[in-house]
Amino acid sequence: MIEFHHVQKTYRVSGRDVPALQSTDLRIEQGQVFGLIGHSGAGKSTLLRLINRLEEPSGGRIVIDGEDITALDADGLRRFRRQVGMIFQHFNLLSSKTVAANVAMPLELAGELGRAEIRQRVDELLSRVGLSGHADKYPAQLSGGQKQRVGIARALATRPKILLCDEATSALDPQTTAQVLQLLAEINRELGLTIVLITHEMDVIRRVCDQVAVMDDGRIVEQGPVARVFLHPQHGTTRRFVLEDEHIDESEQRDDFANVSGRILRLTFQGEATYAPLLGTVARETGVDYSILAGRIDRIKDTPYGQLTLALTGGDVESAIGRFRAADVHLEVLR
Ligand code: ADP
Repeated sequence: MIEFHHVQKTYRVSGRDVPALQSTDLRIEQGQVFGLIGHSGAGKSTLLRLINRLEEPSGGRIVIDGEDITALDADGLRRFRRQVGMIFQHFNLLSSKTVAANVAMPLELAGELGRAEIRQRVDELLSRVGLSGHADKYPAQLSGGQKQRVGIARALATRPKILLCDEATSALDPQTTAQVLQLLAEINRELGLTIVLITHEMDVIRRVCDQVAVMDDGRIVEQGPVARVFLHPQHGTTRRFVLEDEHIDESEQRDDFANVSGRILRLTFQGEATYAPLLGTVARETGVDYSILAGRIDRIKDTPYGQLTLALTGGDVESAIGRFRAADVHLEVLR
């Protein structure tokens, strides 16, 4: 659905070149929820805005659904943009217009539907995002989560193939964030829409994305299926995001480990293995004892996973490690 071929972007600010995106190749498949994560200034917004040419690339080619959009003229670009919806951190609603009028705006600009058809489509959209009955309110009368739902309804008005989300939940509290992400996941499933979202929170990636790309200093430094990148991060930037999400301070953890004896292992369970009674079986067979140093059971999108850091003492520790290696778990020996 989305292909970047050697795409790069340099801004020119008072006679100086500011590189924002280094030469980047990227492929996003149709129907995926694709997350871009990175710290502020990493180049996420630039990459996102290149997809609908809100930013012009300084070099390279961008192909969307088979069409080279870097070659489009103004007319072609207007038509193309109807296929790409966008939502924003601060919602970008018009405060002087009602909810219904905000959602109707892209349809009025497109000029293809009559008044009655627009009203019907707006009703459908508001019902889809759970806001039936709020049509005549003004943005100031809505909560943050409701405002973002209006933003989503407006973005979907022209039946786009792609939805771009620019830090769409960063201004919302955790519970509202979860509800808005759930709505995005439903829309992705039901409409088969391709979603590209940018965030600085690993939790957002973990909840809704299929694939993730980690950005640092204008480059994609790591990319892959969320479970792989999240559970086995390779790049330092990715590791920091994962630790942040788990509220782990690495130096504190090192101090904690210094006070325990035995071998230290981290086990990662995914899918069905998360619920298998492996620890008890291995303890009985090898006579080892465990102390649990850290642990978490959670979900990556729909897949359960568990991660446990254990200190092993007594018994036959080496054969316990062998048993874990042979089982359906990922094992790291930390000490
Ligand atoms: P992110 O979304 O990850 O915070 P951005 O894409 O906004 O990163 O920014 C990447 C780099 O490009 C930063 O150094 C930023 O200062 C610069 N930049 C972004 N937009 C502009 C602009 N319109 N003009 C000049 N520099 C910009």
